[in-house]
Amino acid sequence: MAVHEIRIDHSVPLAGEPDKGHNRWHPDIPPVVRCAPGDEVVMETRDAIDLQISPDSTSAELAAVNLNRVHPLTGPVYVEGAEPGDLLVIEILEVAAPQFGFTAQIPGFGFLRDDFPEPFLVRWQLADGWATSDDLPGVRIPGAPFMGTIGVAPSRELLGRIAEREQDLIARGGVALPPEAADAVPADPAIAGEALRTVPPRENGGNVDIKQLAAGTRLFMPVWTPGALFSAGDAHFAQGDCETCGTAIEMSATLRARFDLRKQLAAERDIRDVQFERDDYSVPPEYAAPRRFFATTGISVDPDGRNYSEDLTVAARNALRNMISHLEAEYGYTRQQAYALCSVAVDLKVSEVVDVPNFVVSAFLPLDLFD
Ligand code: ZN
Repeated sequence: MAVHEIRIDHSVPLAGEPDKGHNRWHPDIPPVVRCAPGDEVVMETRDAIDLQISPDSTSAELAAVNLNRVHPLTGPVYVEGAEPGDLLVIEILEVAAPQFGFTAQIPGFGFLRDDFPEPFLVRWQLADGWATSDDLPGVRIPGAPFMGTIGVAPSRELLGRIAEREQDLIARGGVALPPEAADAVPADPAIAGEALRTVPPRENGGNVDIKQLAAGTRLFMPVWTPGALFSAGDAHFAQGDCETCGTAIEMSATLRARFDLRKQLAAERDIRDVQFERDDYSVPPEYAAPRRFFATTGISVDPDGRNYSEDLTVAARNALRNMISHLEAEYGYTRQQAYALCSVAVDLKVSEVVDVPNFVVSAFLPLDLFD
């Protein structure tokens, strides 16, 4: 068993070290290291918006953030012997956190972007497994660091299918980001002009934002291209299920992972999406379950009384808005502070999807967070 390392210079953005990472998905991005099944890889990663926020940043600066630089990923890692149809096993051994993290509400981004047009920043101190902040006093958030973006390269064929379906979605009035060469890494026009943006999770994993992918989790991903070409970045110190404001507690990190292969299992079982498993709680059970909580709910009826049919999005927005109002009334937080707290610590759960026309989403606030 060998250990491979990808160390980065945290004082320069990704564009300063284009041989260590990338911020688009494409099968032609050359690997940084090669490993054999059973090997470990240690990789250092930049935060989701590529060092544009520091402990001295202010909310006002968020309006100027360049989102074309999302997400600087470290990699790719070439796994020897990996072929399309294999299932790649990624055992998350450790996600080490630094001392600074942030939660950002960026105009035009986030689940309630119409309700929150103003930028807002929470700067967190990370120490001894907890996040605390003067920008959001009265709570401490237990850490369970994980990589928000973790994935493998798409095949050329998959890339083509994705580009086509996302273009079709845009034509139908949907929200998707077409390829964008500006600020792409690699800058090579043959790649930058057609590479996929990293914002949506897809069949190759990517920006899945699954908080249970903390150390101890085994992640399974179909391999699409020879060597799998694994990359990761966008680490989160903590996050509520749903990451509602669009950011978690964002941070740079060091990932340690072990790779293995289940030959042709993805092809045999027709596995096209990410799967994962673990054997124990990803955070102490009083927070994971949680033990003590207050919950709000939402149904598929919007605030002006229009009823939607079987609409989870409407129900989720309502549950979240109700939790923000509760945090404002009960704890005296501003709406922006409350929205940030929801994004890092409140879990949205689907309570039912059968009682037509109204689905129920519940929002769980763990009460052990409060001092
Ligand atoms: Zn993130």
